[in-house]
Order: sequence, then structure tokens, then C-alpha cells
Amino acid sequence: MVVHQEPAQGKKGVIFSGMRPTGLLHLGNYMGALKNWVELQEEYDCIYCAVDIHALTTIETAEEAAQIQPNIEDMVLDWLAAGIDPERSIVFVQSHVPEVMTLHSLLSMVTPLGWLMRVPTFKDKVRQMSETEESVNYGLVGYPILQTADIILYKADTVPVGQDQVPHLELAREIVRRFNNRYGKIFPEPQANLTEDPLIVGLDGQQKMSKTLDNHLELAATPEETTRRVMTAFTDPQRTRRDIPGRPNVCNVYALHKTFSPPAEVTTVYDECVTAQRGCVDCKRHLAASINDYLAELRERRNSLRLRPGYVQEVLADGAAKARVIAQKTIEEVYSKMGLA
Ligand code: SF4
Repeated sequence: MVVHQEPAQGKKGVIFSGMRPTGLLHLGNYMGALKNWVELQEEYDCIYCAVDIHALTTIETAEEAAQIQPNIEDMVLDWLAAGIDPERSIVFVQSHVPEVMTLHSLLSMVTPLGWLMRVPTFKDKVRQMSETEESVNYGLVGYPILQTADIILYKADTVPVGQDQVPHLELAREIVRRFNNRYGKIFPEPQANLTEDPLIVGLDGQQKMSKTLDNHLELAATPEETTRRVMTAFTDPQRTRRDIPGRPNVCNVYALHKTFSPPAEVTTVYDECVTAQRGCVDCKRHLAASINDYLAELRERRNSLRLRPGYVQEVLADGAAKARVIAQKTIEEVYSKMGLA
């Protein structure tokens, strides 16, 4: 068992990143995060976590909670199929390392409530849940503390984030700074590894691809299912007849071609669209073929991993064992600094 606490020789540092277990991942998840996770393994020691405790902050029924385990399994299978390598990276489930909850409690002793209430995503979530700041569960208020605990429990120094998550990381750094100032330096201040989040628009052409909006394309879908869904995509609304020239730049099918079709084909799509030489039905069929080609290898790997009974559970158990070795050492240090030894 390899324990990654110090960066391996030649690596830049230790990355921590987590995903909520939402089940099967879609192309937006892949392009926005997972693809980057796979690449980061070349340069960093990586710790990837299915953050099931975070999921509980917005779960309201036992039925929803019962979905967490199958969702973890589906999601982690997508990670592994995409190229997350459990021999190189630690892959585990947040709640399998209970030390994170201990650190969450201890960090809450140094975090002013005002810092948490100011987080813009806290206010957004309160609005989305039709709650008030007084009625919302404490877990949602303390979310940034748990996120900080996730990162620093493993002494991770780098976190891949999109521009919109930079304020969260700044808050994590402030909590770390406060802790280090009060009790002595234990934790590195985590730095952002800024990742480009290419906007993958959903099939409705209106909003970011999302499972909640049902405008998504699952990585694990069959080629037939992908084609069927792509054929429902919205296109240029002004192109009501095939002989009307299209406007690729307002068409989300074209936007997806730019991401998933080879460059020479993208040029052809553009030229044939603006001169009305191609119809939208053929164009969508072409896009579906490009997406299916793009995902072919991932899907093949996923199908073969799925045939290995208990494989995902083995990976997660091994990952949790590695993560716990690091976590327990950190908690010992924290106890000692905080006078709890
Ligand atoms: S031909 Fe293609 S790019 Fe042009 S409007 Fe139709 S779907 Fe969009």
C-alpha cells in the first residue's frame, strides 16, 4: 500500500478534489472536471473523493439518502473508466474516513460565523431550497468548513477549481491561516490550480449541461441512446426549412461539434450550414457519431470494469485505508496542538 503524504519525487504537490455522488456522470462533468483530474495525475499526487457527507446537506428524505450508495458506485466507475488510476491516486469515499468529521468540528472553533454566512453560494442555496438563513440546516452553513477539512486533512496543497470556486478556496485559506496563527503551523494554505471550465451547453441549447435539467448526455450511455438524445437537440431556431442558411454560432449542435468533432469536420459543418448544404437532422447524426467516437474507449473500459464483481468496492476500501493513515496522523498533530492529547 502506497501512502501519499509528501509529494512523490518530481511531482509538484498534492491535489485534493471531490465530487458529490450524483450517479452516472455526463459530458459536462467530464469536460469540466474529470478530464482534468485524469491529466493532473501526471504532475501531482492526487486524492479524489466521493463527498457523500456533503450530499447530505441537501437531501431531505430517506429515499434520496438510499440513492447515495448506488450513485457512488456509478460515479466511481465513470472515474475509473475515464482513466483515474487507483494505483497512482487515492480514490475513496468521504464518510469512510471519519476523521474528516473530527477536523470539521475542530476547525469550526476557529471559524467566525460571519465568514460562513457571507459565502455567496450559501445565500444561493438558501434561496434554491426556499428556506431562510435561520431555518436552513447547520450542515449547509458549515459546508465550507467541511470542504476545508477535506483538503487539509490530507495536507493537500493544491485544489483544481474553476473561476467561480476561487472565493471558496480563499475562505479555506483564511480558516487555515487562522488555525495556523492560533495553534502553530500544521497546514499548508491550499492554492488554486485554475482549470478552464469549457461551457458545455445542454441539448436544450439554453443552459449548462445538467442532469437536473435533463439536457445531458451520459458518458455510460449506449451509442444508440446517445444518438437518440442528440437527435432531440435544439438548433438554430430561425432555420425552419432546410433551404434556409443556418447560423452555426447560435446553434448548440455546432458548439458541441467544436468540442467533439475533428477540426476539419467542424469547418465543413460551418461551411455547409451557412450555405444550406446540410440539414440539421444529418448534422445531429454527424455530431452523435463524433461523440460516440470520442467516448468509445471510455465506454469499452467501463464495460470491462463493470464485469469485475466487487472491483469498485475494493478500490474504495483500499483508497480509504490509504487516506486514513494520513488522516489519523494529521488528527494526532491537531489534537496535540490544540491541547487535546
Ligand atoms: S446544420 Fe448543424 S450547425 Fe447548422 S443549424 Fe443545423 S444543426 Fe446547427
